[in-house]
Amino acid sequence: MWIVLEDLKIRNMSASAKGTAEEPGKNVAQKAGLNRSILAAAWYRFERLLSYKLAFLGGNLVKVDPRYTSVTCSECGSRDKGNRENQAKFLCLSCGHADHADVNAAVNILAAGTRPSKAVKPVSRERERGGLSRP
Ligand SMILES: [Zn+2]
Repeated sequence: MWIVLEDLKIRNMSASAKGTAEEPGKNVAQKAGLNRSILAAAWYRFERLLSYKLAFLGGNLVKVDPRYTSVTCSECGSRDKGNRENQAKFLCLSCGHADHADVNAAVNILAAGTRPSKAVKPVSRERERGGLSRP
């Protein structure tokens, strides 16, 4: 079993958007809302729990670089910011592939995580190290 996640930098994403007096941040309220939702989702805990469960089940949890997963066409590989019409709609400017933006990104993430490359970082190795055992 393969489970592939975006390797989100939670700390960066949840850093304050307020900035400094000299360089005030932009979209502070928007980013604060994003921060709250990321923290509320407890992404880190989710990831840890997945990793823990997969150690028992023998699966692989891999994390991939999240860059461009949302603007790359899962059909033809074309990468263009214009492919992403809005938060929900993906429409490839090259081949016309249309999908929900999250579904298109999920296909890209799965493909990146299951193809052998340097970007793949298996994180479910507890079982191999003998760190966990079945109860
Ligand atoms: Zn395309």
